Amino acid sequence: MNKLNPKTCRTIPGKNYGTPKEVWGFRTSPGHREPVVAARDLLQANGDFLGIAPLISRLRLQRVIESLGAWHMIFQQRHLGMPIHRAYVTVHTDRDRRAYLVKNRAVPRELLPRKADFQISERSARRRALRSVSGAENNARITEIKPVWYPAMRLIHPAFKIRVHRERPRSEWLIYVDGEKGRILSKYDNLAWLTWSALIFDPNPVTAAPDWQPLTDKGRPRRPPEEAYRKVVLRDLRGRGHYLDGLRISTRLTPNRVRRGDGRLEARSTERGFDEAMVYYHINEAIRHLESLGYTGRRAIFQKPIEVNAHGTRDDNSWYSPGERSLTFGTGGVDDAEDAEVILHEFGHALQDAICPDFGQSPEAAAMGEGFGDYLAATFFAAKKPARFRTAVASWDALANPHLRQADPPCLRRVDEPLTYESFDHSPRADEHENGKIWSATLWEIWEVLGWKVADTIIIESHFQLDGFTTFARGGRAILDADRNLYNRRHLALLRQIFRRRGIGPVE
Ligand SMILES: [Zn+2]
Repeated sequence: MNKLNPKTCRTIPGKNYGTPKEVWGFRTSPGHREPVVAARDLLQANGDFLGIAPLISRLRLQRVIESLGAWHMIFQQRHLGMPIHRAYVTVHTDRDRRAYLVKNRAVPRELLPRKADFQISERSARRRALRSVSGAENNARITEIKPVWYPAMRLIHPAFKIRVHRERPRSEWLIYVDGEKGRILSKYDNLAWLTWSALIFDPNPVTAAPDWQPLTDKGRPRRPPEEAYRKVVLRDLRGRGHYLDGLRISTRLTPNRVRRGDGRLEARSTERGFDEAMVYYHINEAIRHLESLGYTGRRAIFQKPIEVNAHGTRDDNSWYSPGERSLTFGTGGVDDAEDAEVILHEFGHALQDAICPDFGQSPEAAAMGEGFGDYLAATFFAAKKPARFRTAVASWDALANPHLRQADPPCLRRVDEPLTYESFDHSPRADEHENGKIWSATLWEIWEVLGWKVADTIIIESHFQLDGFTTFARGGRAILDADRNLYNRRHLALLRQIFRRRGIGPVE
């Protein structure tokens, strides 16, 4: 029952080999055997139709992938003991083991060479591969080399498949060197980083305007003027991608995400892709800042790109999910991702969780989480904002809120309120954002006294010794420890003064 009828199946003929490249439009009968066994039987029964009859014994099972509704069997063609580049045959069955698709890139037997005629040595191939990578001297190494067959149209060359890893700038080349003549047959950088141009707010339209009043109309935010935008370069995007997938962040979770082939994403805030450009740019810059403080290489805080949904909810809310390690931004009111300070605040939660998993499980720890996010947002953009906006966080987001826009300047929260630990609300219904203002004001003072680099370094470093249930007092002592470890107690007296004034301690 496995024999397919070429007349009723749909096929795409291959250009070079004359065999069908893809066969579908059929479904074999259900069965109970292992999907791999069923797949092999199907290939056996249709060897002539697929043009692979004499080759079936040379197909080696490479991988079985189980998805939700199907099994996917991938076979690699080998010849004289070497794999043939790209020569895969795949069989796909549903959960009842009914095959419904075959893809075939096998090289027909008549095209296969009688012997592997290597004219150049492996050493010579290595040299040629390294020479083809610019800046490779003392800066690159070969991490893999193996003999393969390399099909070019109908000619099948013996070749060396060589992986070259270059340190600076970081790249990971996959190079095929012809085994007969030593030519480079193909060369491809797995890690080529691309850039896109984009428009963003930095951090938001309110701080960019001399006067924010014209930005609202009867209490609703208006379309920001051209002066509100800044043209920037989105860096470190993955090579060959058409989406915002980068070294440090990906907008992968965003529904209907923006796609570009030409590297230009100059969307305004009302256009698709703007919010993605905002989160991509600001989070990438924030992580680069962490790297500049020394959190890089084996000390890197984020081990893989943060995944973001720039339009995850219609509510006026954004969050970090510790379970998924992802960020979600809402579109209620002003889109949250249109205000870079909201982005940095949420990034603060991701940063804490990356250092100290499940941070914020007690009321004080939760307040420290909120306060830290506001501190991060305020300090990250301080140098870019006019003085009067410096301690006001998320002014653009606040314009959509009738209560928050009353303030001058409008803002979600401030980081310079004269609060002390005495005012911490310990009642069960207390708001961690309100309580968090005590912590953000404390951190802000540290920033004012010690400057950005030192303040950020000791504050971030302090998290490594905290836990999810920490307290203001322990947080204070952790900052002192960080100063001891990194700066030989240079700022101890100043820091103690700040904590004492805020009623946080004991810090002796
Ligand atoms: Zn928060």
